[in-house]
Amino acid sequence: MAMTELNVAIIQLSGESSIRYTPLAAMNMHAAIAADPRLSGWVSVRVHDFLQSHTQVEMLEAILAEGPDLVSFSCQGWNMRQLQSLFPAVRQFLPDSLLMIGGVHVSGRGRHQLAVMPDVDVVANGEGEAIMPDLLAALRQGLPLDTVPGLTLRRDGGVLDTAPRQLSRSLDEFPSPYAAPGLPLDGYDIALLETNRGCPYSCGYCFWGGRIGGKLAKRDMVRIKSDIEAIALAKIPGLFLCDANFGLLKEDEEVAAMVIDAFRRHGYPREFNVNWAKNNAARVGQIVRDILAAGIHTVINVPLQSNSRAALDLAGRGVIGRESMLAECRAMMDEGHHLTAELIFGLPGESLAAFMDNYDDLYATFPAMRIHPLWILPNTDFDRNRVELGIRTISPDPLSDYEAVIAHAQMTPAETRNGLALLLGHSILNLLGAGRSALRALVRWNGASPAATVAALEGYLATSPHPLAEELTGLYTRLRRSCYFERSLRDCKREILYRNRDDTAALIKGFFASLQAPATVLDAVQTLVEFDCMLLPRSDLGGEGFADEHRMFPFRVIDIADCLARQTDAPLPDEQPVEVSVRHKRGLATLRGSNCDLTGAWNGKVVDWRPMAEGRICAS
Ligand code: SF4
Repeated sequence: MAMTELNVAIIQLSGESSIRYTPLAAMNMHAAIAADPRLSGWVSVRVHDFLQSHTQVEMLEAILAEGPDLVSFSCQGWNMRQLQSLFPAVRQFLPDSLLMIGGVHVSGRGRHQLAVMPDVDVVANGEGEAIMPDLLAALRQGLPLDTVPGLTLRRDGGVLDTAPRQLSRSLDEFPSPYAAPGLPLDGYDIALLETNRGCPYSCGYCFWGGRIGGKLAKRDMVRIKSDIEAIALAKIPGLFLCDANFGLLKEDEEVAAMVIDAFRRHGYPREFNVNWAKNNAARVGQIVRDILAAGIHTVINVPLQSNSRAALDLAGRGVIGRESMLAECRAMMDEGHHLTAELIFGLPGESLAAFMDNYDDLYATFPAMRIHPLWILPNTDFDRNRVELGIRTISPDPLSDYEAVIAHAQMTPAETRNGLALLLGHSILNLLGAGRSALRALVRWNGASPAATVAALEGYLATSPHPLAEELTGLYTRLRRSCYFERSLRDCKREILYRNRDDTAALIKGFFASLQAPATVLDAVQTLVEFDCMLLPRSDLGGEGFADEHRMFPFRVIDIADCLARQTDAPLPDEQPVEVSVRHKRGLATLRGSNCDLTGAWNGKVVDWRPMAEGRICAS
């Protein structure tokens, strides 16, 4: 290729509509190209960071602006189908350019990808920041791409896999993404950063870039510190570490200290989130306490995934370290921290009945639960062992390219449907906060099964004359017809429930009133629904700043909700009227319909209540 300069476009399409994450994969590639002396002065790189809200034509026009000779797309299951529909358009305008794809969704599947994507020329198998500079150097030297390890490419009417490429042993083999990000960092909501890459465990549903079950590739602490400094100086409010198990390593304590130090000096990052290690309870607990004590917000998700021994064994997770992690969780909850248990629905080895039993058990332990339906990702053990595990999948989502489990040896499609409906009910009540207080109150005061109560929501909505009930029933109908939990269901549900808090409260109060329980219990539960709904994000508030409101409640709802969330004793409340003042952040009106509740920033916060209690009600 005889040219003095090559134009490269690196494309990253986020799964979000409005929340802006730094495009880490593209930044890594940009930094690696910029630092490579073989390419000095020869390559010009443009990083494109697109959101779901960009149209196809907007993306196309931006990509074409500099007439790139090479266009590289970072592919994930959540953007694959959109990118796939973009390739033919790019190809029509750039008939002679090299179109390349990479990322965990396509890596190691080059032959399949080239067969189904006729406009793509090359697939990168492995780490883009290693492959891209070598590929560009080969182009500069006029060498065939066959000489570059880690590629699958078209050759003589067929497909050729070049030599395999070893994964990096240390992230220090690559330059820092924040030293030369390739785009301005201002305006981002969340900075992504890796302090290491890989995971020593081997869960059956996980790929993690081909780096599970082995040694971690680490990054030097000095470089981590300079990256955190760059993020804080750019005033990016959130930092998300992409590490698989934060808290696994002793060095993680030092990383947390760096984040705290940056926050104290610059006021950023204000929010710090990670994938917490599933073992190493004491270290995880200490880091969480240090971060929270410094005034930085963090979400404490506990990656339990299941309580069924058979499911954990089949997933390769086992139960080592679990008891000490649960004990540490109990200690943190006793200190008043809010923990969320993470579960996966649809794991081989777990029936629907067992899942519901586990739901009830964990509901009694954790103040909140987040449940993900199982997807089968490429290159995983579950992907390879489908036949043995009886796994059957469908892939009906027009937006994502993941396969959802519809059945396995312990679950029929009908049971999967019922389980997914339970997940929808859970996410409705959880979004309202009712999962934290009203439902918990019913469970505590009337001995109800949480899973059975959540499952009953669907039947109530189907017969309720409330206008919102019809819309929510429409979501259940979509889910049941497709036997699939589409991403867009979450956005629709949020839009319905946030539209008018009083309508939402009336609907959910009606649901609880329809249940079998003594009138005193149902009265108190409905009051808690009103309180839960008062804290819902206010989609009617535009502009900037904050809005305060005040409401009367017949008993001390805050103490009761707090005790219920902490699973401490909360007797049926006595009449003790209180006025509660709640503050909401303005501006949600401009973000309606997007994934705007991601950080919980839009939930109302109690700023005052009267009369002030002299002592807490609960016996904690
Ligand atoms: S799910 Fe988490 S713990 Fe399991 S292999 Fe993947 S990254 Fe490691």
